[in-house]
Amino acid sequence: MIGLPAGRLRPGEWMRAAANWANLSTPAGLVLARAAGCRVRRGAGGLRYALGYRSPLPAAGAFTVGNVVFFRPAFTDPDAHPALVAHESRHCTQYALCLGLPFLPLYFAAAGWSWLRTGDPASRNVFERAAGLQAGGYAERPPRPLAAALGRSRSRGDLGGGQSGDGSGPLDDHSKMCSNQGVRWEAQPPRPARLGEEPGGQ
Ligand SMILES: [Zn+2]
Repeated sequence: MIGLPAGRLRPGEWMRAAANWANLSTPAGLVLARAAGCRVRRGAGGLRYALGYRSPLPAAGAFTVGNVVFFRPAFTDPDAHPALVAHESRHCTQYALCLGLPFLPLYFAAAGWSWLRTGDPASRNVFERAAGLQAGGYAERPPRPLAAALGRSRSRGDLGGGQSGDGSGPLDDHSKMCSNQGVRWEAQPPRPARLGEEPGGQ
Protein backbone atom coordinates (compact mmCIF):
# COMPACT_ATOMS: atom_id res chain seq x y z
CA MET A 1 0.00 0.00 0.00
CA ILE A 2 1.06 3.54 -0.58
CA GLY A 3 1.28 5.85 2.39
CA LEU A 4 0.15 9.40 2.83
CA PRO A 5 1.64 11.68 0.27
CA ALA A 6 4.79 13.45 1.24
CA GLY A 7 6.42 16.51 -0.22
CA ARG A 8 5.09 19.83 -1.30
CA LEU A 9 1.39 19.51 -0.81
CA ARG A 10 -0.67 22.51 0.02
CA PRO A 11 -2.47 22.29 3.37
CA GLY A 12 -5.81 21.71 1.67
CA GLU A 13 -4.38 18.96 -0.49
CA TRP A 14 -2.83 17.28 2.51
CA MET A 15 -6.08 17.50 4.46
CA ARG A 16 -8.00 16.09 1.51
CA ALA A 17 -5.57 13.20 1.16
CA ALA A 18 -5.75 12.47 4.89
CA ALA A 19 -9.55 12.67 4.90
CA ASN A 20 -9.87 10.29 1.96
CA TRP A 21 -7.53 7.85 3.67
CA ALA A 22 -9.49 8.03 6.90
CA ASN A 23 -12.87 7.67 5.20
CA LEU A 24 -11.49 4.64 3.31
CA SER A 25 -12.29 5.93 -0.16
CA THR A 26 -8.63 6.08 -1.19
CA PRO A 27 -7.93 2.57 0.12
CA ALA A 28 -11.00 1.40 -1.81
CA GLY A 29 -9.62 3.09 -4.92
CA LEU A 30 -6.26 1.41 -4.49
CA VAL A 31 -7.91 -1.98 -4.04
CA LEU A 32 -9.88 -1.39 -7.24
CA ALA A 33 -6.71 -0.31 -9.02
CA ARG A 34 -4.97 -3.49 -7.99
CA ALA A 35 -7.95 -5.67 -8.93
CA ALA A 36 -8.12 -3.95 -12.33
CA GLY A 37 -4.41 -4.45 -12.96
CA CYS A 38 -3.65 -0.72 -13.09
CA ARG A 39 -0.21 0.73 -12.61
CA VAL A 40 -0.39 3.27 -9.77
CA ARG A 41 1.89 6.27 -9.48
CA ARG A 42 1.89 9.52 -7.61
CA GLY A 43 0.25 12.46 -9.30
CA ALA A 44 -0.22 16.16 -8.73
CA GLY A 45 -1.76 17.49 -5.54
CA GLY A 46 -1.61 14.24 -3.59
CA LEU A 47 -3.52 12.30 -6.24
CA ARG A 48 -2.68 8.77 -7.28
CA TYR A 49 -2.92 7.97 -10.96
CA ALA A 50 -4.16 4.46 -11.74
CA LEU A 51 -3.07 3.96 -15.34
CA GLY A 52 -4.27 1.48 -17.91
CA TYR A 53 -7.82 0.91 -16.66
CA ARG A 54 -9.52 -1.42 -19.16
CA SER A 55 -12.74 -2.67 -17.56
CA PRO A 56 -15.86 -1.71 -19.55
CA LEU A 57 -17.51 0.07 -16.62
CA PRO A 58 -17.74 2.89 -16.03
CA ALA A 59 -17.76 3.93 -19.67
CA ALA A 60 -15.52 6.89 -19.00
CA GLY A 61 -12.08 7.98 -20.07
CA ALA A 62 -11.28 8.87 -16.49
CA PHE A 63 -12.95 8.55 -13.11
CA THR A 64 -12.07 8.95 -9.48
CA VAL A 65 -12.35 6.92 -6.28
CA GLY A 66 -11.07 8.83 -3.25
CA ASN A 67 -7.70 10.27 -4.20
CA VAL A 68 -7.18 7.64 -6.90
CA VAL A 69 -7.84 8.82 -10.45
CA PHE A 70 -8.27 6.08 -13.02
CA PHE A 71 -7.30 6.60 -16.64
CA ARG A 72 -7.87 4.42 -19.65
CA PRO A 73 -4.82 3.29 -21.61
CA ALA A 74 -5.16 6.10 -24.15
CA PHE A 75 -4.17 8.54 -21.39
CA THR A 76 -0.54 7.55 -21.17
CA ASP A 77 0.53 10.76 -19.42
CA PRO A 78 -2.24 12.36 -17.36
CA ASP A 79 -0.11 15.41 -16.62
CA ALA A 80 -0.35 16.26 -20.31
CA HIS A 81 -4.07 16.87 -19.69
CA PRO A 82 -4.06 19.39 -16.83
CA ALA A 83 -7.68 20.47 -17.25
CA LEU A 84 -8.88 16.90 -16.91
CA VAL A 85 -6.61 16.28 -13.91
CA ALA A 86 -7.97 19.45 -12.28
CA HIS A 87 -11.50 18.21 -12.93
CA GLU A 88 -10.80 14.84 -11.33
CA SER A 89 -9.02 16.57 -8.46
CA ARG A 90 -12.25 18.42 -7.69
CA HIS A 91 -14.02 15.07 -7.54
CA CYS A 92 -11.40 14.00 -4.97
CA THR A 93 -12.35 17.02 -2.89
CA GLN A 94 -16.01 16.05 -3.27
CA TYR A 95 -15.23 12.61 -1.86
CA ALA A 96 -13.66 14.24 1.18
CA LEU A 97 -16.65 16.57 1.64
CA CYS A 98 -19.06 13.62 1.34
CA LEU A 99 -17.09 11.65 3.94
CA GLY A 100 -15.89 9.15 1.38
CA LEU A 101 -17.91 6.50 -0.36
CA PRO A 102 -21.30 8.16 0.30
CA PHE A 103 -20.16 10.32 -2.60
CA LEU A 104 -21.05 7.49 -4.99
CA PRO A 105 -24.81 7.17 -4.36
CA LEU A 106 -25.06 10.96 -4.16
CA TYR A 107 -23.22 11.27 -7.44
CA PHE A 108 -25.38 8.72 -9.23
CA ALA A 109 -28.53 10.33 -7.87
CA ALA A 110 -27.28 13.64 -9.26
CA ALA A 111 -26.46 11.97 -12.58
CA GLY A 112 -29.94 10.46 -12.72
CA TRP A 113 -31.51 13.84 -12.08
CA SER A 114 -29.36 15.39 -14.76
CA TRP A 115 -30.31 12.70 -17.24
CA LEU A 116 -33.97 13.23 -16.47
CA ARG A 117 -33.67 16.98 -16.96
CA THR A 118 -31.37 17.08 -19.95
CA GLY A 119 -30.89 13.57 -21.36
CA ASP A 120 -27.26 13.83 -20.29
CA PRO A 121 -25.72 12.61 -17.00
CA ALA A 122 -23.59 15.70 -16.43
CA SER A 123 -25.31 18.91 -17.52
CA ARG A 124 -27.44 19.27 -14.37
CA ASN A 125 -25.29 17.06 -12.17
CA VAL A 126 -24.19 19.28 -9.29
CA PHE A 127 -20.95 17.35 -8.85
CA GLU A 128 -19.96 17.62 -12.51
CA ARG A 129 -20.90 21.27 -12.67
CA ALA A 130 -18.79 22.00 -9.60
CA ALA A 131 -15.88 20.05 -11.09
CA GLY A 132 -16.22 21.87 -14.42
CA LEU A 133 -18.24 20.48 -17.29
CA GLN A 134 -15.91 21.46 -20.07
CA ALA A 135 -12.80 20.21 -18.28
CA GLY A 136 -14.53 16.87 -17.79
CA GLY A 137 -15.24 16.56 -21.50
CA TYR A 138 -18.90 17.55 -21.27
CA ALA A 139 -20.86 20.11 -23.18
CA GLU A 140 -23.79 21.65 -21.36
CA ARG A 141 -27.16 20.51 -22.59
CA PRO A 142 -30.27 22.60 -21.97
CA PRO A 143 -33.06 21.33 -19.71
CA ARG A 144 -36.00 19.60 -21.32
CA PRO A 145 -39.60 19.62 -20.05
CA LEU A 146 -39.86 17.11 -17.23
CA ALA A 147 -43.20 15.70 -18.36
CA ALA A 148 -41.87 15.16 -21.85
CA ALA A 149 -38.76 13.46 -20.50
CA LEU A 150 -40.81 11.10 -18.36
CA GLY A 151 -43.18 10.29 -21.20
CA ARG A 152 -40.31 9.68 -23.55
CA SER A 153 -38.52 7.36 -21.15
CA ARG A 154 -41.73 5.40 -20.52
CA SER A 155 -42.48 5.00 -24.18
CA ARG A 156 -38.94 3.91 -24.99
CA GLY A 157 -38.22 1.97 -21.80
CA ASP A 158 -35.05 3.99 -21.76
CA LEU A 159 -33.52 5.05 -18.47
CA GLY A 160 -29.89 4.46 -19.25
CA GLY A 161 -29.05 6.90 -22.00
CA GLY A 162 -28.10 5.69 -25.43
CA GLN A 163 -29.96 8.37 -27.31
CA SER A 164 -27.98 10.59 -29.57
CA GLY A 165 -28.11 14.36 -29.70
CA ASP A 166 -30.83 16.09 -31.62
CA GLY A 167 -28.30 17.60 -33.94
CA SER A 168 -28.90 21.15 -32.83
CA GLY A 169 -26.89 21.63 -29.67
CA PRO A 170 -23.30 22.23 -28.67
CA LEU A 171 -23.09 18.60 -27.60
CA ASP A 172 -22.96 17.41 -31.16
CA ASP A 173 -19.23 17.07 -31.45
CA HIS A 174 -19.06 15.37 -28.11
CA SER A 175 -21.88 12.96 -28.83
CA LYS A 176 -20.31 12.02 -32.13
CA MET A 177 -17.04 11.48 -30.37
CA CYS A 178 -18.69 9.25 -27.78
CA SER A 179 -21.18 7.53 -30.00
CA ASN A 180 -19.36 4.23 -29.66
CA GLN A 181 -19.97 4.38 -25.91
CA GLY A 182 -23.76 4.67 -26.21
CA VAL A 183 -23.90 7.21 -23.42
CA ARG A 184 -21.96 10.41 -23.03
CA TRP A 185 -19.70 10.15 -20.04
CA GLU A 186 -16.55 11.58 -18.63
CA ALA A 187 -13.48 12.46 -20.64
CA GLN A 188 -13.60 10.09 -23.53
CA PRO A 189 -10.06 9.06 -24.43
CA PRO A 190 -8.08 10.74 -27.16
CA ARG A 191 -8.70 9.35 -30.60
CA PRO A 192 -5.41 8.06 -31.96
CA ALA A 193 -6.48 8.81 -35.55
CA ARG A 194 -6.63 12.56 -34.81
CA LEU A 195 -3.21 13.30 -33.44
CA GLY A 196 -2.64 16.72 -31.96
CA GLU A 197 -6.21 17.20 -30.85
CA GLU A 198 -7.10 17.73 -27.23
CA PRO A 199 -8.99 14.83 -25.66
CA GLY A 200 -12.31 14.89 -23.98
CA GLY A 201 -13.65 17.86 -25.84
CA GLN A 202 -11.62 20.23 -23.72
ZN1 LIG B 1 -16.38 14.53 -13.62
